[in-house]
Amino acid sequence: MNPVNTTNSALHPALYSGLIRLHVLHHACEEPIFGLGMIEELARHGYKLSPGTLYPLLHGMERNGLLRASEEKHGKTSRKLYMATPAGRRALRVAKKRVKELFGELFEIK
Ligand SMILES: [Zn+2]
Repeated sequence: MNPVNTTNSALHPALYSGLIRLHVLHHACEEPIFGLGMIEELARHGYKLSPGTLYPLLHGMERNGLLRASEEKHGKTSRKLYMATPAGRRALRVAKKRVKELFGELFEIK
């Protein structure tokens, strides 16, 4: 179920791209994540990402040194697991403070 009730015309994906990266980083700090699992997790939060969007996002975060990938073998198949690097953990800590500062105002009671 979509917990966020929004119409498509009000959805501007560009507004959420950084937040989605931060959310991926958050989960990668807690446990190893993999692409499809993350797609399901984001869908649970109301963000429908295709593999064509999520995989490049993961690769970009790997290139930036935030995530480290490893291969997990399942018989003949294998999947890529991603974990936050120490730099990724530091980046999340800093980002949480910064996001809180910006979002505090969004949710200020007037
Ligand atoms: Zn989540």
